[in-house]
Amino acid sequence: MKFQLLPSTIDENGQASARQHLACFVVDDRIAFDAGSLAMSCSEGQRASLRDIVLTHAHLDHIAGLPLFIDDLYSTLTEPVRVHATDEVINVLERDIFNWSVYPRFSELKNNHGPVMIYKPFKLGVDFPVGHLQVRAAPVNHQVPAAGFLITDMETTVAMSGDTSEMEEFWNMVNARGSLSALLIECAFPNELQDLADLSHHLTPRALEVELEKFEKTDCPIFIVNIKPSYRDTVVAQINELRLKNVNVMRIGQVYDW
Ligand SMILES: [Zn+2]
Repeated sequence: MKFQLLPSTIDENGQASARQHLACFVVDDRIAFDAGSLAMSCSEGQRASLRDIVLTHAHLDHIAGLPLFIDDLYSTLTEPVRVHATDEVINVLERDIFNWSVYPRFSELKNNHGPVMIYKPFKLGVDFPVGHLQVRAAPVNHQVPAAGFLITDMETTVAMSGDTSEMEEFWNMVNARGSLSALLIECAFPNELQDLADLSHHLTPRALEVELEKFEKTDCPIFIVNIKPSYRDTVVAQINELRLKNVNVMRIGQVYDW
């Protein structure tokens, strides 16, 4: 399974920077988990082959690239872009994004080949197919309805938390599954902003350490994602100070092969 966190910013030299404003993870160049930087940072190969997008929640940093991705492809699509999300997230997208004021309601539009975007609602706690993958979602603990995922191609299985604070059901789902190749978990704010992390339902390094004590697969590689760019250096330093086993910060743009 090829897994890539797409870049979302460029540095002063025009190169992808390590700052992660937006969340978008592409699996096997074909399926996106969240769409924050999808339209802006995907390769042309990914743009040509990627037609399934699975959403953790509807916050802007996770969906910003979705309307633009469909816009780019609008006239050339020979099949619709499939947006997999819970009913709650779909309702937010229809009400607040694809509402003809912010952007066109693509779910009502067709090109010469047919619909350009369709919704594929999923339920929490039940496996659902997405292209060549099978996905299961569990509720996580964020400011809005949000899900974490178990993603498998039947050989490799990866877990990702999405945005969250302390969790229970996600860990139950992950611990109940066989071997895992990787766990992706967020850590948005530094320890000194614990109040802000509590308010916005995110993790700090100290809270991350508590969460990882619930993770029973002690040999599984763990990758930290969704660090707020303004605090990245501090958060990374605080994570490193904890000397947690198997924990690394995910490299933006790198293709991991699991
Ligand atoms: Zn969020």
